[in-house]
Amino acid sequence: MAEKVSIEEDMKSANGAAHLEEQESGMANGLTDHKKNGPEALSEKLKRIAKANLLVILTVAGVIVGVLIGLAVRSAHLSNTQIIYFGFPGELLIRLLKMIIIPLVVCSLVSGAASIDPKALGKLGGWAMLFFLVTTLIASAIGVIMAFIIRPGTLTSSKPSLSVSNDGVPQSKEVVDSFLDLVRNIFPSNLVAAAFQSYATSYKFVKVQKNDSTNVSYIVEKVPYGADVDGMNILGLVVFAIVFGVALRKLGEEGEILIKFFNSFNEATMVLVSWIMWYAPLGIMFLVAGKIVEMEEVGLLFASLGKYIACCVIGHMVHGLLVLPLIYFIFTRKNPFTFLLGLVTALATAFGTSSSSATLPLMMKCVEEKNGVSKQISRFILPIGATVNMDGAALFQCVAAVFIAQLNNQPLNFIQVITILVTATASSVGAAGIPAGGVLTLAIILEAVGLPTNDISLILAVDWLVDRTCTVINVEGDAFGAGLLQHFVDRNAKQEEGAELSEVRLEGIRPTQQESSPLVAKSKEALEEGVAIAAARPSEKESIM
Ligand code: ASP
Repeated sequence: MAEKVSIEEDMKSANGAAHLEEQESGMANGLTDHKKNGPEALSEKLKRIAKANLLVILTVAGVIVGVLIGLAVRSAHLSNTQIIYFGFPGELLIRLLKMIIIPLVVCSLVSGAASIDPKALGKLGGWAMLFFLVTTLIASAIGVIMAFIIRPGTLTSSKPSLSVSNDGVPQSKEVVDSFLDLVRNIFPSNLVAAAFQSYATSYKFVKVQKNDSTNVSYIVEKVPYGADVDGMNILGLVVFAIVFGVALRKLGEEGEILIKFFNSFNEATMVLVSWIMWYAPLGIMFLVAGKIVEMEEVGLLFASLGKYIACCVIGHMVHGLLVLPLIYFIFTRKNPFTFLLGLVTALATAFGTSSSSATLPLMMKCVEEKNGVSKQISRFILPIGATVNMDGAALFQCVAAVFIAQLNNQPLNFIQVITILVTATASSVGAAGIPAGGVLTLAIILEAVGLPTNDISLILAVDWLVDRTCTVINVEGDAFGAGLLQHFVDRNAKQEEGAELSEVRLEGIRPTQQESSPLVAKSKEALEEGVAIAAARPSEKESIM
């Protein structure tokens, strides 16, 4: 009986449901306490709310002040060197966040996978993947529809006359090689190298002798060869960490010591994240200001590519402010905008850094502390989401593909549109959560429908802007995924709890079966499905935050 009570307490304290309900009814933090203490002065109330939401206020202020400073400093016409020095505090934020990514992703996934029952883990992962797939497909469809409605590429009499460079344009690659590279990166050949290198196919041309009965001729054959290129292979690390966590759990007692190690490593990393969070407002302010100071040809950019930018940004707004919140509301019947309010710091970081990976640490903090998502769910789902779920990227890639087709006067038939939708969804999985990650995989879509890849230079010219809203939507999709899963887990836990309590009443005390590992020691029944996630929370109790 004592065992049962402790599981129920665990579930209540750990799944954050109580916290979430309090937050839902009280809007943001700090709005509930005063009810207990009677009426209070307005200034006191404001002070309390400001204190409770200090970080959010500072972050939003950081963005606004950043824009103002940027506009003011822009007129000073800084030299290139001065611009670099000016952007230094922003650069520092990105370095701090990047520093934390590998320990955070690896430790949270290992400990997450090790602390959840494999059956529940499979179900949880399956539902998450389904949510990611469906929302990415919807985002792609919105992108195509927006591009057909706004027609960003048809009214331009000639191609936009921007002084774009081809520097960042990716080398064109066969579609099949792009997908093989994706699969290769899932299985990194060297884990240490995966922390800073990924596999990418290049081509070489070899002369091949052809003999027929009468004469000898030569043909030139394009042969793919693999090379390791700079850039973290986060997909490989994610897959390895999950499988390693499952293996550790299977070891039982023998694996405990390592599970504990990864748990404490994870907790310590999150403490570092909470410190970095306080630097975020200043860093974001300088990232935004630095970009505004650095912008060139803004007028020309908007004149020639304004419709393309509008198409992407409106599409992102539709997806982020209507579609995702609506899906969340339909399933949970909770206010999605309260959920969004809790993510403000992370969303501002995504906007400032243009990187899902760099936003991951702050996103974990936000969903856990503001939106009541349990650590088991957030630390398992968010790293996967930050790696494979990119709604914003799929959306802008679809707009870009239709835009390039319109620019080149190439009408798209139904099959080509479907190809764009499917390849955009697939290529967004392969896109790295780094600035301009999506532009690099855009080539796959263009190759698939036979469009010229050198027009990517136009997309690159405005990507510094589009990528910001794109990254915000990418991370927002992950967070809503985590929120939805938490809802299902809570609901399952409640149902299980109800069923168990009625059984207890009928049968008296039920014998419990212990797991071999004390770290995952809970009743067997409780470890099934959602309850497993709510009950098996060693790290929650060990948290030092
Ligand atoms: N910058 C985006 C992200 O980090 C990826 C992209 O370029 O689409 O999520």
